[in-house]
Amino acid sequence: MFGSVFSGGVIKKAFEKGLVEIHVHDLRDFAYGKHRQVDDRPYGGGLGMVLKPEPVFRAVEKVKCKHEASIVLLSPQGRKFDFHMAQRLSKLQQVILICGRYEGLDERVVQCLATEEVSIGDYILTGGETAAMVVIDAVARLVPDVVGKANSVKYDSFYEGMLDFPQYTRPRQFKGMKVPEILFSGDHKKIEHWRRKKALEKTWLIRPDLLKKRNLSPEDKKILDEIRTEKEGKKNESD
Ligand code: SAM
Repeated sequence: MFGSVFSGGVIKKAFEKGLVEIHVHDLRDFAYGKHRQVDDRPYGGGLGMVLKPEPVFRAVEKVKCKHEASIVLLSPQGRKFDFHMAQRLSKLQQVILICGRYEGLDERVVQCLATEEVSIGDYILTGGETAAMVVIDAVARLVPDVVGKANSVKYDSFYEGMLDFPQYTRPRQFKGMKVPEILFSGDHKKIEHWRRKKALEKTWLIRPDLLKKRNLSPEDKKILDEIRTEKEGKKNESD
């Protein structure tokens, strides 16, 4: 599963350059007995199987290095994964991601082994692997030099606490839709202002919660006032 996702693109290059390492471990390698059983029926009865604690504890003890590490349990019950969490994890030497299956893991893993429980959203996946891939991808691209200067993460959504501005490429006109004229003006200052305004406008319309969390510069406040006035003007015209 992991090989297919990380065998191309920016993340593959990061592995090749030695900027990021990823090791996948099979819990069965840490299970004892003839059948190397990693799961069992839940105490108290009920449907499904639960991952046993011993193989998970053994696996983490084996792979944990002395560096500052986070032992993340992927779980729908965890704190919601976001850009800030990705930034924090990207600064650590090691992140151990524990993937659950079936009904989940024995609660002792949650209580005594994991240092944090992380969810990628309010829905249930069949296993933690897909969630781990999301976390690895988002964290790895924040490690310095993984993403080249040309695609600097600084211009991505969330980096500055707002959404990215709209991007256009050739053709100049497509199905009657034109690329905004300003982008051909060659006036870099005006283009920068337009992009900032579009980014603020999109954030204000779709994710106002992001704007509430950030300290707006006087310049951004001025642009936002401009946007509000324009929108109110349009609304009054249509009324
Ligand atoms: N019974 C569990 C519950 O309701 O909390 C769900 C178990 S789920 C079917 C199996 C595993 O998938 C979980 O242990 C977890 O590792 C992973 N998983 C499912 N949804 C997830 C999510 N939204 N975020 C992170 N991991 C998730």
